[in-house]
Amino acid sequence: MEKELIFGHQNPDTDAIGTAIAYSYLQNKLGYNTEAVALGEVNDETAFALQKFGFEAPRVIKTAANEVDKVMLVDHNEPQQSVADIDQVTVTHVVDHHRIMNFNTSLPLFYLAAPVGCTSTIMWRLYQHYGVDVPQNIAGIMLSAIISDTLLLKSPTTTDEDKEAVTALAKIADVDYEKYGLEELKAGTNIVSKSEEELIDLDAKSFDLNGKKARVAQINVVDLPEALERKEAFLTAMNEAAKDEGYDLFMLLITNVLDSNSTALVIGSDNAKAAFEKAFGQVKDSEISLPGVVSRKKQVIPPLTEAFNS
Ligand code: MN
Ligand code: MN
Repeated sequence: MEKELIFGHQNPDTDAIGTAIAYSYLQNKLGYNTEAVALGEVNDETAFALQKFGFEAPRVIKTAANEVDKVMLVDHNEPQQSVADIDQVTVTHVVDHHRIMNFNTSLPLFYLAAPVGCTSTIMWRLYQHYGVDVPQNIAGIMLSAIISDTLLLKSPTTTDEDKEAVTALAKIADVDYEKYGLEELKAGTNIVSKSEEELIDLDAKSFDLNGKKARVAQINVVDLPEALERKEAFLTAMNEAAKDEGYDLFMLLITNVLDSNSTALVIGSDNAKAAFEKAFGQVKDSEISLPGVVSRKKQVIPPLTEAFNS
């Protein structure tokens, strides 16, 4: 059987990595020949989860067409978030929980999307659908993905299905998910050892907003004031990136994972900033407090899209 690669989005998070691993295991059980790979180095949180459940970090690829003709996507579909040469390969499968944007294929494909908190929740259903048992380590990495995406079931993206999946997977993985989940989230909040340039790129995604190029990055912390002590350096790094990459808007969402509140730093062109303020209110000194906002997908991109379209 011809080999296919499975990967999540660029700047991978625990869902992009964990669900790729889980999907590869499932597809190989079903007779495919797949390998889970990554479009970037794993972050600290993901490294913690991989180690906890005995996985090595997947191999990092920059292009796919040099080794395969076919790929499977998890946790994304927008081409600018995918492998650089996505237009050179055939996408045969997608499992995702994001909006569908600028995604076209020339051939029929397997496409499964649901508005749930994490791709691993859909993956858990897929295992049940095919009657494949979830091994303990795979359950652990899927559980880690759901904890990550839903901030331990506290994000407004969380659904009853995510809760069911967490309960079931925690049982198979044999962990106390509340205790483990807090350890996992905290593992991703060490910002002291990283530069501002690294931090604004760790979990960053690009979006096309009515022809404008927007970059929305997010970092998790346990102490917002401490993170904001580095505000000027963050803004410098964001302005540099915007200049180099041509972003009209750069937003850095700094989220306290313990109380689910965020502060955002925002830079960009006057027009882009005006659209941003239409969505979220006044930005003072490039800063705005966003209480209760933790989800880029559900609480940031939809209002931004609307503001840029109006
Ligand atoms: Mn993701
Ligand atoms: Mn996800």
